[in-house]
Amino acid sequence: MNATSSPHIVILGGGYSGTLVAVNLVRLAAKPPRITIINAHRPAGRGVAYGTRRMEHLLNVAARNMSAFPDQPDHFVNWLRTRAEYDLVPDYELRERFIPRMIYGDYLKSLAHHHLNEVNHVKGEAIDIQNDGTITLADGSELKADRIVLATGNEAPADLLGAESLAAHPAWAGNPWLPWHEKLPPDTGTIILLGTGLTTVDAIITLRALGWLGRIHAVSRHGWLPNAHFRGIDYPDFPPAEVDLADLGLEKLVTLMEHHCARLREMGANPAIIVDKMRPHTQRIWQRFTLEEKKTFARHHAARWNILRHRIAPEIHAQIASAQLTGQLQIHAANIERVESAGERVRVLLSDQKHLEGDLVLNATGPQTHFTATKSVLLQNLLRRGLITPDDMEMGIRIQPDHTIVDREGNPSPHLIALGPLLRGTYWETIAVPELRGQAKRVAETLLGLGTSTESQPVMMEFMI
Ligand SMILES: Cc1cc2nc3c(=O)[nH]c(=O)nc-3n(C[C@H](O)[C@H](O)[C@H](O)COP(=O)(O)OP(=O)(O)OC[C@H]3O[C@@H](n4cnc5c(N)ncnc54)[C@H](O)[C@@H]3O)c2cc1C
Repeated sequence: MNATSSPHIVILGGGYSGTLVAVNLVRLAAKPPRITIINAHRPAGRGVAYGTRRMEHLLNVAARNMSAFPDQPDHFVNWLRTRAEYDLVPDYELRERFIPRMIYGDYLKSLAHHHLNEVNHVKGEAIDIQNDGTITLADGSELKADRIVLATGNEAPADLLGAESLAAHPAWAGNPWLPWHEKLPPDTGTIILLGTGLTTVDAIITLRALGWLGRIHAVSRHGWLPNAHFRGIDYPDFPPAEVDLADLGLEKLVTLMEHHCARLREMGANPAIIVDKMRPHTQRIWQRFTLEEKKTFARHHAARWNILRHRIAPEIHAQIASAQLTGQLQIHAANIERVESAGERVRVLLSDQKHLEGDLVLNATGPQTHFTATKSVLLQNLLRRGLITPDDMEMGIRIQPDHTIVDREGNPSPHLIALGPLLRGTYWETIAVPELRGQAKRVAETLLGLGTSTESQPVMMEFMI
């Protein structure tokens, strides 16, 4: 960049995170910089989550907490009012609704339409970045950037043992975000969903919306399905006023949480209230844990945390319960040992010498979280060059508090800055809109040299789900 020209900011990834960084750059800058968004594979401006074309896929966060801007909490609810189907819904009801994710994608597109007229959009996959900020795309073209934002998002689930030989098998679907429902077996068939989290819930809801009547098996280590959102009670005793949760360390924290969960159970209330009350503190607690505590949490407590934390819309929960009641859906608690071909079917080998066979088997085990195993050519090249380096937990990459990437030598990168799921190891919780909107604003502020606003820090209001 010469002294007179505007810096060129290139954003790699045009999902929620990348789009919101660009929108914040434009809305916060006195004179917006030159911006390019490079996006591949998923619908630009929508990404994996909001690129769905299926109306039955609902947001798992109520409308009142889905604003794209931390400093304008009612922005999404007000936008919904521009649509005929929500125009006359009373405010108290609209705020609590779980809106189709496709409509949330329309919201993001409308923000892009409003703010990003001057932005250059490139369709293509970035595969490498050189030390001087030159980006190489898969088609061989190159682009020079002053600052580069890594907003590459969620990766498809990790491969399961044996999956490499199933790539072309008609009964295998290794990526749940590709249109697997185009190869449904007849109603006499069986579908096996590997995982019992939010992706499996999406799949079951789609099967029901399609009127598919066959058998569904879902398998995971604990066999726990997500809980429904609920209206909690007022419980001012947690966290105790005299305690800073981040000071406790893992063992004392777990003991304190278990004590309060037990009290809530005695009162006939849902103990998941404690998880909600933890959320404003989660990132700080995680960052204060020792590495050993982080590993212990990931090994022994994460599954339970996730099941209490990631909730679904009550109407979606009711459909899952109905599928279980009718016997269409069976849940299995077992380890998935490997997958293999069984003629036209796929066999899933489970712990305890059990197995299941499906006419369609879907890997819905959740996004890959072992960072160095990333399948992204770009991220592998950056790792090889030492321009990025794994965090202590190997769940993502190392950054500074202002989101500037730290290289292999421990130096802040002159070009690279990151947000979103790449920061799992740094924040633990870095996937849902209430976290990402704050990050998008913070990254834009860093790029514009504005310093970090307190509004973009996680505050209680943002996490009331
Ligand atoms: C199915 C699903 C449902 C969800 N539902 C909710 C919800 O209801 N509420 C909520 O708060 N959160 C939800 N989430 C969380 C969600 O992940 C975030 O809200 C958000 O969508 C993440 O956005 P992102 O831009 O970081 O990543 P992504 O949406 O994954 O977007 C990343 C984009 O970058 C592109 N890309 C990657 N690498 C490159 C490259 N090298 N070159 C060019 N482009 C590249 C990808 O193809 C993609 O288009 C959901 C997530 C999923 C997966």
